[in-house]
Amino acid sequence: MSLSRREFIGIGTAAVAGAALSPGLRLVELAQARSPDEAVTSLQRWGLLVDISKCNDCDACVTACSTENGWYGHNRPTSDPQWIRKVTLKDKQTGYVQTLPVMCQHCEEPPCVDVCPTGASFKRADGIVLVDKHICIGCRYCMMACPYKARSFVHEDTTDQKPHAPRGKGTVESCTLCVHRVDAGTIPACVEACNKDGNKAMMFGDLNDPNSTIHKQLASVSSTQLRPDLNLSTGVRYRGI
Ligand code: SF4
Ligand code: SF4
Repeated sequence: MSLSRREFIGIGTAAVAGAALSPGLRLVELAQARSPDEAVTSLQRWGLLVDISKCNDCDACVTACSTENGWYGHNRPTSDPQWIRKVTLKDKQTGYVQTLPVMCQHCEEPPCVDVCPTGASFKRADGIVLVDKHICIGCRYCMMACPYKARSFVHEDTTDQKPHAPRGKGTVESCTLCVHRVDAGTIPACVEACNKDGNKAMMFGDLNDPNSTIHKQLASVSSTQLRPDLNLSTGVRYRGI
């Protein structure tokens, strides 16, 4: 995966609250709880910022995601779940090694949505990219189109499903940005775990809100998208690469 630096500046409005880490600095932005009748709007665009310099061999984010969404322990003979995974980068010249979590990048221009023949892959107005399991026919075009290898196919019967994260044999799945949590006004499980049990490397918030910590961070520090050459305007950004 080729990587380069790119600064991101977002604009827009929305209100957020935050959990205090230290005076003046909030690593976790909370979503505003949304009632089931309330429409999702493009006023918000949810995203993540991952500081790779703080991310090490810990996999608190992966464990939290698998527990939250019910794919933990599922044996897949032909493919691994790709909701979130740790990827290791090694500089061939220096030997310097970094690890980073990679999940659906919640692209603004998602190729997975473009190629889906049924409309099962879709992007919400607030930028969260999802799969409607009821109309996914398992063709896996989206898996081929995704440049981040962020989707996986469910080959096996599913057990112990979580009501908020339906899974189905013969369908494709990927990170939902814990949409059920976001709609309830909390944060994705990976971010919560990283800040609780990990190294506080992940930040969640509204990229559109100029008052959000994530927006301010992205406007003031160098960050990058994975494969910025593809111009997908990802909702997940990285710094320290
Ligand atoms: Fe779709 Fe892959 Fe982009 Fe996620 S990262 S929105 S699955 S193309
Ligand atoms: Fe759409 Fe499902 Fe086919 Fe993916 S596997 S392109 S979500 S129908």
